[in-house]
Amino acid sequence: MGRAWREWLWLFVGGIILIACQPIPTQPPVSTPIPSPTLPEEQASPASPLLWDPTTDPYRQQRLDMVEKTIVARGVKDPDVLRAMRTVPRHLFVPERYRDRAYGDHPLPIGYGQTISQPYIVAWMTELLELQPGDKVLEIGTGSGYQAAVLAELGYVEVYTIEIIPELAAQAVERLRRLGYTDVRVRQGDGYYGWPDAAPFDAIIVTAAPDHLPQPLVQQLKEGGRMVIPIGPPGGYQTLWKFVKAGNTVKAYNLGGVRFVPLTGPGVQQGRERGAPTPER
Ligand code: SAM
Repeated sequence: MGRAWREWLWLFVGGIILIACQPIPTQPPVSTPIPSPTLPEEQASPASPLLWDPTTDPYRQQRLDMVEKTIVARGVKDPDVLRAMRTVPRHLFVPERYRDRAYGDHPLPIGYGQTISQPYIVAWMTELLELQPGDKVLEIGTGSGYQAAVLAELGYVEVYTIEIIPELAAQAVERLRRLGYTDVRVRQGDGYYGWPDAAPFDAIIVTAAPDHLPQPLVQQLKEGGRMVIPIGPPGGYQTLWKFVKAGNTVKAYNLGGVRFVPLTGPGVQQGRERGAPTPER
């Protein structure tokens, strides 16, 4: 091997080591890519190749059936949302041992005491956001990255997503990247405070339940912006709300009972202590 080649090789290897050794950020604001950590196999699927070939996807028919039987049948109509649900490979967002159950109409564990939401709820909440081309949408509660991928798959919105658990945030970054959803911006931190430097947003979707409406998220909604959020006691049933910002008021629509994992972190605690308003059921 010639000298020039050896030098080039060392530069290349050095570059890789440098990239791999970047620290995992723990505080917001962070919107640079988060390196993927090494995790026990049962907590994440990415041990096996995720580079997905839709033409040989063994789960394709299950996914199409799931969309017809549990999403179309229950009234979701938006053709773009249905297309996204038919496309995103949900089985690659769950731990390997749950892959065969990925197209059932239920949430599944994703590790760290968290879940990937039921497919119908993902589709319904996405439709409720009434997204338009060019809209900027913020998700609180990245989890596996599935909801963010569904939003990105629409193909015409800018997606921002925040996850409080560093390991889940790092896994989601890696998974989204390997599946080609490279434009999704992922940040690790407390989503209660939103993403001030990217605000205002046309839409905000919250996939973990606080017991009151987080005021920073209301402030980061554009005029006419929509927020879909479960609100209610941790561990119990909550109410799914849609809020629409109109002038100085926020119109509230009660969409019925749901069950989500709680929104955690210091923000929700601080908001509670300050007596943040809770919409009436
Ligand atoms: N949307 C996710 C998906 O598609 O896989 C599922 C979300 S899971 C039901 C709720 C997520 O919210 C969990 O991953 C949890 O760690 C996260 N979470 C809880 N409190 C949070 C907070 N204050 N900020 C950001 N994420 C939070």
